[in-house]
Amino acid sequence: MDIRNQVESLFNVKRQKKLTQAGENYRKILQANPDLQAIEDEMLEASQEVALTGVYDEEKMDAISAKKDKLLKKLGLQGADKPKFDCNICEDRGYVDGKVCQCLKKELINAYFNLGENGGIIKDNNFANFDIEIFDDQAKDGSSPRANMEKIYELSRKYAANFENEEDSLFFYGPSGTGKTYLTGCIASEVRDRGFTVLYLTAIELMNFCRDRQFNSADNKDYMDQKDQMIKTCDLLIIDDLGTEQANNMNAGYLYDIINYRTSVGKKFIINSNLSLMDLSKRYADRIFSRITGNSKNIEFIGSNLRMKR
Ligand SMILES: [Zn+2]
Repeated sequence: MDIRNQVESLFNVKRQKKLTQAGENYRKILQANPDLQAIEDEMLEASQEVALTGVYDEEKMDAISAKKDKLLKKLGLQGADKPKFDCNICEDRGYVDGKVCQCLKKELINAYFNLGENGGIIKDNNFANFDIEIFDDQAKDGSSPRANMEKIYELSRKYAANFENEEDSLFFYGPSGTGKTYLTGCIASEVRDRGFTVLYLTAIELMNFCRDRQFNSADNKDYMDQKDQMIKTCDLLIIDDLGTEQANNMNAGYLYDIINYRTSVGKKFIINSNLSLMDLSKRYADRIFSRITGNSKNIEFIGSNLRMKR
């Protein structure tokens, strides 16, 4: 069974379980509440009548429904007659109007990229546990990494909260250990929690995939194409540590391909790099440099390496 079928069948199992569970729970409630059972009987009778006569009496049906809801409310059991699905959009079907629902897409990304249930490193970082105190208030050169970080933190929070309306991607650059990955993780987890699909890859992972795809056997093609599609179409793609991957034409071509595709369809990315803008422009062809910096808010991180200090 391929990964997609596996994930989809897990979805079906989960949904069936919820339906069964909800049915059992409701049966117990009915046993304990004869009044409610009487309304259910009335409902059943009415729908049998519809089946027999072919006439649907909307007014009557609505009246019974309303009576039932009123009683459930009185009993403090609102919604007890329905299953509680994880996703209210597709009711855990994984599809809505024939299209893949965000909830299924999220699971597919986790499965295809081996991220586990929580989507990999993203889960550890969030705005709530962000500690501004770890940033130097005053560096040797007179700058304040902390003040700089406060600004970036605010911008990042707003970006995550307003993700769907943001037009720009983000390019975070500056020395290593200055909080780029951490803050990116905060944005990613917030955007994910808000229901968007997020894929986090290091530049090296991305390029390993590019190589594997180039040299893979034909029977793996479907799998590789699925992954490629997810990289190109997830709501937010994060490429961490750009510049650490091998510099060669194949990698550069794939990077261009991804960024060009995503910007052309209005999909955003966050790219982190230890390279300065100057180094970036030297390392990558103009068309890549301009696609990255021209479609992004370019944000500089300053300060010394936090990991070294700890
Ligand atoms: Zn869904």
